Amino acid sequence: MTRPRAAILAPKRFAGETVLGRKRRARRMARVLAETHPDAHCELDFTNPLELAVATILSAQTTDVRVNQVTPELFHRYRTAADYAAADRAEMETLLRPTGFFRAKTNSLIGLGQALLERHDGQIPRKLDDLVKLPGIGRKTANVVLGNAFAVPGITVDTHFRRLTNRFGWVDEQDEVKIEFLVADLIEKRDWTMLSHRVIFHGRRVCHARTPACGACTLAAMCPSFGTGPTEAAPAAKLLKGPRARDLAVAAGVDPGLVPAAAVLTPEDAAPEAPGALGAAEALREPEDA
Ligand code: SF4
Repeated sequence: MTRPRAAILAPKRFAGETVLGRKRRARRMARVLAETHPDAHCELDFTNPLELAVATILSAQTTDVRVNQVTPELFHRYRTAADYAAADRAEMETLLRPTGFFRAKTNSLIGLGQALLERHDGQIPRKLDDLVKLPGIGRKTANVVLGNAFAVPGITVDTHFRRLTNRFGWVDEQDEVKIEFLVADLIEKRDWTMLSHRVIFHGRRVCHARTPACGACTLAAMCPSFGTGPTEAAPAAKLLKGPRARDLAVAAGVDPGLVPAAAVLTPEDAAPEAPGALGAAEALREPEDA
């Protein structure tokens, strides 16, 4: 199959881009993402910083939807750090089983409760340096907690954020910490938390890992990876996902009638390629390190 000319030209158009040019383009793309996803938010349910930390730890290697199914009962039974510290392991494992890796996650939550009691009077600390020393919490979880529970700007580099920022040509990097610092140089600090949500929303709904919906993407004109997925409106519109799939088509100038009914009903993060806010095994390997 011959690739469309626009797709062939896309990477070339940005080849000689200066550092300043990239920063300007990144900020333009961030503005378009804000218009494209006005509903972007943290998709984990929580009412306080402890609940958010717990939900974020649980989101490793599963979907936010699955975490949100488990947390109502968990949060009802375990309300404080002391409750987690004193948890009955078998009982907690049973509760966490649907989220996968339930033994490691139980270890993390009991360890988190104990560490919070020992070091922070049972409260979730507000500093990144303190957060990352807690069991089960790495930079991603810490940034989720800071940004969404304490309104401290933070960039959450999950699997979507890494894929999209590379496709956007904002970075040429796979290391999550390096990506965080590179994007921090491009985007104003006050926008970091919401940018993270918007990029993750775009990754779940439009710019999928296997086949992105390039022909129905609001960023197409600014993206060097345009053409990674179908560039024609009809096949691209079929790839849009989520309750706002038709709105996403309209935003990209595509006939919303091309979006199949099933796309609107499909949970955005139902696909195996789309794990939760963490999207990596951060919480699963850190208990030993903590
Ligand atoms: S869907 Fe295509 S055009 Fe849109 S951001 Fe992803 S790679 Fe770029």
